[in-house]
Amino acid sequence: MPDPKQSRIPCAGPSITQREIDYTDAVTNCWYAKAGVYHERLEQAVAEYLDVKHVVTTPTGTSAIHLALLALGIGPGDEVIVPELTWIGSSAPITYVGATPVFADVEAEHWCLSAASLEASITPQTRAIVLVDLYGDVPDLAAIRAIADRHGLAIIEDAAQAFGSSWQGRKAGAFGDLGIFSLHGSKTITAGEGGLLVTDRDDLYERACTLRDHGRQLDGTRFFGDFDRYYYHFEIGNKFKMSSMQAALALAQVERAEELVGRKREIFSWYQEELADIEGLHLHVERSGLTNSYWLPAVTIHPKQVVDTLAIMRELEKSHIDIRPLYYPLSSLPPYRETASGLQAQQQNPIAYAESPRGFNLPSNLEMSREDTTRVAEVLRRLFTNSQDFRRKQ
Ligand SMILES: *Cc1c(COP(=O)(O)O)cnc(C)c1O
Repeated sequence: MPDPKQSRIPCAGPSITQREIDYTDAVTNCWYAKAGVYHERLEQAVAEYLDVKHVVTTPTGTSAIHLALLALGIGPGDEVIVPELTWIGSSAPITYVGATPVFADVEAEHWCLSAASLEASITPQTRAIVLVDLYGDVPDLAAIRAIADRHGLAIIEDAAQAFGSSWQGRKAGAFGDLGIFSLHGSKTITAGEGGLLVTDRDDLYERACTLRDHGRQLDGTRFFGDFDRYYYHFEIGNKFKMSSMQAALALAQVERAEELVGRKREIFSWYQEELADIEGLHLHVERSGLTNSYWLPAVTIHPKQVVDTLAIMRELEKSHIDIRPLYYPLSSLPPYRETASGLQAQQQNPIAYAESPRGFNLPSNLEMSREDTTRVAEVLRRLFTNSQDFRRKQ
C-alpha cells in the first residue's frame, strides 16, 4: 500500500519564483497600447538565447507546428516525414493541414530520427520533415540537412523537449528552416500553456505572422489605399496568439534559462550516481558534441531483463513516484494503424517497435531534491535485483 506520509514525486513540473510573480503585473498593466510589451521582450530574449532572427509566440507548441506547416504551404497531397517515437503533437498538425504523415524509424542510441530511414521514406510527394529532439537529444543533424537539401525538403525542428540543449555549440531549435518550442507546464521553461516558432527566414516569418492573425498584414502602418489595415483580411488564417499573461510568465522563465537548465542537468547527474550500480538499466548520457538540457532522463532496460516498463511503473506508483513510458510507435496508434502509411511503417520500423516497450523516463521536476532521486533509485534497485518477481507478461 502507498505510504500516505511519503509525498508524491511528479514526473515533470516548473520552478516558480518571485520573478514570475513580479511579472504578473501584466494582469494590471498590459492592455491597450501596452498589450504587446511582454511579447516583444520575450521574442527578443528568445532570439538572443537561440541566436535566431525571428520569434513568433503561439498558444501551444502544437499550434506552432501547425503554423510552421501552413507557412511552408503544405497541404493535401503532400507527405511529411515524422519519427515513430514522439508525442502526438509532432504529427497531429500534419493531419490538420490535410497532408499525410509518413513514419520513419529511429536510432536505438538516442531514439531520434534515423537518417537512413528518413531517406528510404522519401517519395515524390514528400515536402517536409518534422524532426524531433527527443528528451533533449538530437538526431544526426548534418546527415538530415544533407538529405533535405538533396531532395528539396523543408525541416521543422520540434525542439519542445530540448530548450537549452545544444549541438556543436548551436542551440537546439535553430537547426531547421523553422523550429518550435512548447511552453506547456511540463516543459523546462513554461507559461502554463504556450509555444514559440523560430526562424531565420524572413519569408517564412512574414507568412507565419499573417497566417496566425486571420490573414491580416500588419506592418506598423495603419492605412493603405482606402483601407484600414487592422480590419482588412487578405486570406483566411488562424488565430494563434498568446496573451500578455503567458508572455510575461514565459519571459521570467527565459531570463532564468541558465539556472533552469542547470537544475535539470544537476538532477540528471544525481541519477547517474544513484543508478550506477543497477545492472540492466542504461541511462542515456550525452554523446560528444551534445549538451543535453535533460528535460527528462531517458532510460533503456536491457533486452535480457525480465522487468518491463509497466511493471516498473506499477511498482513506483506504490511509492508515489511518477514515471512515464517511452512513446508507443505512432504507426501503432488507432488514428494511424489502418492507414496506408501506418501499415507500411509497421513493417519498416523495427527499432522503434523494439525500443518502445524497453524505455521510460525518470522524474525530473524542477522542485526535486537529491533525496528524491535516492528514493527513486531505491525502488529501482529492489526491482532489478529481484527481477524474477516482476516478470514481463508473456
Ligand atoms: C510538448 C510537445 C509538443 C506540443 O506542445 P504543446 O504545447 O503541448 O502543444 C510537441 N512535440 C513534442 C515533442 C512535445 O514534447
